[in-house]
Amino acid sequence: MTDRYAVIGNPIAHSKSPLIHSGFAQEAAQDLEYTKIEGPLGGFAGAVDAFRAAGGRGLNVTVPFKLDACAYATDLSERARAAGAANALKFEGDRVVAENFDGVGLVRDITHNLGQPLRGKKVLLLGAGGATRGAVLPILAQDPAQLFVANRTVAKAVSMVNQFRANGASADVLAGGGYADLGTNRFDVVINATSASLTADLPPLPASAFEPNGLAYDMVYGKGLTPFLKLAQQAGVKKVADGVGMLVEQAAEAFEWWRGVRPNTQTMIAQLTVPLV
Ligand code: NDP
Repeated sequence: MTDRYAVIGNPIAHSKSPLIHSGFAQEAAQDLEYTKIEGPLGGFAGAVDAFRAAGGRGLNVTVPFKLDACAYATDLSERARAAGAANALKFEGDRVVAENFDGVGLVRDITHNLGQPLRGKKVLLLGAGGATRGAVLPILAQDPAQLFVANRTVAKAVSMVNQFRANGASADVLAGGGYADLGTNRFDVVINATSASLTADLPPLPASAFEPNGLAYDMVYGKGLTPFLKLAQQAGVKKVADGVGMLVEQAAEAFEWWRGVRPNTQTMIAQLTVPLV
């Protein structure tokens, strides 16, 4: 019988996950079906129960169900626990394992696809929502010299950073605050993990934060050159990227976790890339 997988979210019509996973399956000669489920708001558990009862083997989880997915799981990976959110579930009999691959997908795109090492670098993460929460541990695992989390609502960044520190993150490396706290500090890698680019807004970031020889990365994808990436270019940054590679790489992590086969990501990234103009 064909193994069944799906992505669950609300809304879900826009999701690229079926295209990505079907492409991976074809390329890796894996017999599987991958669909979309519009989960009813407040009805995540019921929708997942029904999918499992119909033979579902795993799910990708997107907005607004990433917290529900953690609550539903019987086993949380360290990354899912640290993020307090899951973007992938695997069903193994009565067990439901939760994972969060957003951060590893981001790091793989930056270090592998874009060739920008994070080791020993000064990294700035903008935003203190779910995407930042998932990115902190995978970035720290790369051994950066510094990781600063800046957020509009300052208290949110500070409490997130304190939580990671209480769980062992080094206070010498990880710090957080508001945009005003950035001063004239310069960062090798600046990652926009706010949702500002979705509405063509710009976080209140000084242009002096960019190191021209570094990388500016916007997690939002498919929007072309966002105001954040434009600001980076105006500041002289030559290497700019959006989050399409992160999207495809987190999907590849989930695919490998479910199927034991690592798919090739380059073709899919090329297919989904919207030129940054
Ligand atoms: P959340 O809603 O959890 O967090 C949004 C964050 O953006 C908050 O910290 C918020 O600040 C900040 N923010 C929103 N608007 C502005 C603004 N105008 N100026 C400054 N800060 C702003 O979202 P997520 O963390 O889940 O996602 C963030 C982005 O990352 C989304 O755009 C999403 O599309 C993208 N993403 C991409 C992925 C990929 O695979 N490429 C995967 C996951 C996410 P405050 O706390 O002050 O409200």
